[in-house]
Amino acid sequence: MKWPEVIAIDGPAASGKSTLAKKIADRLGYLFFDTGVMYRAITWLVLARGIAPEDELQVTRLAERTLIEVRPASIPDGRACDILIEGQDVTWEIRQPEVDANVSVVSAYPGVRQALTMQQRRIGARGRVVMVGRDIGTVVLPEAEVKIYLDASVEERARRRYKEMEARGEVVDYDEILAAMRRRDEIDSTRKVAPLRPAEDAVTIDSDGKTLDQVFEEVMCILASRN
Ligand code: C5P
Repeated sequence: MKWPEVIAIDGPAASGKSTLAKKIADRLGYLFFDTGVMYRAITWLVLARGIAPEDELQVTRLAERTLIEVRPASIPDGRACDILIEGQDVTWEIRQPEVDANVSVVSAYPGVRQALTMQQRRIGARGRVVMVGRDIGTVVLPEAEVKIYLDASVEERARRRYKEMEARGEVVDYDEILAAMRRRDEIDSTRKVAPLRPAEDAVTIDSDGKTLDQVFEEVMCILASRN
């Protein structure tokens, strides 16, 4: 069977898009590429350098100068891949709550988006890729043969994030997670450049009340129908 070469998956935080995309990529033998890690890596570096996330000029300069490397996982600790920035492994650091709290501010800057979008397009141009983010179908790879917009209610998404963090042994408060997720949704979907929204030709799937396997089967049917 000839599968579509480029598959774009967008959706809000914790909609399950990364887990879904990884499973699809594994099934097809494609590269799984999560663009969120790039925005997270820059945000981590901004905080580590003591730069104020509100300082658009400095943050943009840093994004333009910094190479983010995404490599196959070198340690079997549950990671999908290694994320390196300036040679340092920051795979887990980029999941810290401080990064969550600041990433939407950093990713709203047009210069930051331009720098990272260029890197993402280069990866997309190689084909055989499942790319995940907020603007893949609309801006990064508008020519993708298949575009999926994976949605879920904010309460369901906060519940999933709560369980993930609890399983990692972190101290978590559901109401705080819910409030932070609402804030992030608001910034991501109202920013001027590349806001979160489904592409006109995207298939929207609501994952509320569905298991990962159900959503996966649904997407595999869509892929098979585009043959
Ligand atoms: O998907 P994830 O939650 O890891 O993404 C973190 C943040 O990165 C998002 O809240 C969003 O602000 C930003 N992002 C983006 N465009 C993408 C991927 C992520 O703006 N393509």
